[in-house]
Amino acid sequence: MEEQTRQLFFIIFALLLGVTSLAVVFFFVYKSYKKNNSVLKEDEDVHGGMAHYNCPKCNQQMEKGYAVAGRGIIYQKEDSKPISPFSTILSVLDNTMSLSFQPAVNRAWHCNTCKYLILDHSKLIKRTKK
Ligand SMILES: [Zn+2]
Repeated sequence: MEEQTRQLFFIIFALLLGVTSLAVVFFFVYKSYKKNNSVLKEDEDVHGGMAHYNCPKCNQQMEKGYAVAGRGIIYQKEDSKPISPFSTILSVLDNTMSLSFQPAVNRAWHCNTCKYLILDHSKLIKRTKK
């Protein structure tokens, strides 16, 4: 009976430790997410909405739209080490990750001919219009 009590205590302790560890990790991820994200409503995006860009390759005017970066974009300079498989969401560019159910997006300009995309990650945009 004493052995069962000890095992039960160990299982409860392990569960509490696991839950606490998850909570701590989640806290730091959420804190980083909040710190690195600036979200605007679509109507407030006046400057971005007026901007037009030409494709840097073919010089045609690019199509305006939105892009979803998903779990965020990791960018590295050309002379840096290769991206580690252990790169975390803590190393993504500011305003490229949205954890909301209806994901916030980045304003983007696209050239379908050259497959070039310019992405504005100065802020995330919460779309409200259809
Ligand atoms: Zn182009």
